[in-house]
Amino acid sequence: MASLSLQHLDKIYDNNVQAVYDFNMDIEDGEFIVFVGPSGCGKSTTLRMIAGLEDISAGKLMIGDKDCTRLPAKDRDIAMVFQNYALYGHMTIYENMAFSLVLAKEDKYVIHEKVLAAAEILGLTAQLNKKPSQLSGGQRQRVAMGRAIVRNPKVFLFDEPLSNLDAKLRGSTRREIKLLHRRLGTTMIYVTHDQTEALTLADRICCMSMGHVQQIGTPLELYDHPKNLFVATFIGLPPMNTFSLKVENGKYYAEGEEIALPSKVVDAINKSGKSNFILGIRPEDIKPGNTYKLNVTLNENTGHFTLTHGKLFGKTSVAKFRDWMRYKTGEVVGIDFDEEKIHLFDSETEEAII
Ligand code: ADP
Repeated sequence: MASLSLQHLDKIYDNNVQAVYDFNMDIEDGEFIVFVGPSGCGKSTTLRMIAGLEDISAGKLMIGDKDCTRLPAKDRDIAMVFQNYALYGHMTIYENMAFSLVLAKEDKYVIHEKVLAAAEILGLTAQLNKKPSQLSGGQRQRVAMGRAIVRNPKVFLFDEPLSNLDAKLRGSTRREIKLLHRRLGTTMIYVTHDQTEALTLADRICCMSMGHVQQIGTPLELYDHPKNLFVATFIGLPPMNTFSLKVENGKYYAEGEEIALPSKVVDAINKSGKSNFILGIRPEDIKPGNTYKLNVTLNENTGHFTLTHGKLFGKTSVAKFRDWMRYKTGEVVGIDFDEEKIHLFDSETEEAII
């Protein structure tokens, strides 16, 4: 097990593409960290720099108290699980899991013990004599994890391990990974573009965009207190509704429509001394009420909640109501915002004000 310190990491590829800018993060021993962000934001590149699969262009990487910046991958004591888990088709599950230990010329009794222990943890004991083709996708993904576990690494790295699985299996395998972390207690770093995986798995999330770290914090910190508009709209599903907000002669206009605002928001606006903002409200923080009007375009009942899509201040928006609502297309529904949950961003810098 090990802590990690990523200090001012940059990655510039040979074609001069800079994929990562000044990445800084201290990871504690045993933490489950998720790097999340849209495709191409630099998550895998950062993970691969930690693994030693990509050179670090600038900065320093410490694993435990060892400077690993230039250390070859094989000496870093790290195991990586990929989305493409490529098992050897001609080998049994046992042989697949034992493979790296055989290569390392480990004693065969030790190998046997380690493979059996990993198989037990992963519920693969009955599959050990089978070939990969006889296993389901979820079981094959577990074998890939087993290959990593037998090496007893200091750090586990996961690169989108669930993206080849169907939706149902993704949910159950995600829970298995979380339980595996509980059981092993080893530091894990997990890359995904899926905000649900990030929220459910992470002790702390590192949210990235275009090679830059946007925010590092617990799932609840990023959900409740996003630092900027990017994090606010990336974390949460459906995404936060956002509206341009202008102040003119003491009046407030959302998307050009004059509106009333709670005093908390008014105070923040006055304190900032600015006049152009972005107002944000999550779908789940909209309640039936009488302050604003939602012109319904589509009502979706899902059983335990209702997604009501419509125009709010003339802009396409969505509200998530807890009850089974029966709104009709064309209906005008009165709504309120949960005042404590309103977000306000500077329209220029997109940094959060509240
Ligand atoms: P993510 O994992 O967030 O999808 P990546 O780290 O794979 O993003 O990629 C970040 C950026 O670096 C992208 O613009 C991508 O095109 C670029 N990139 C990734 N790998 C290479 C490479 N081997 N050579 C050049 N550019 C690369």
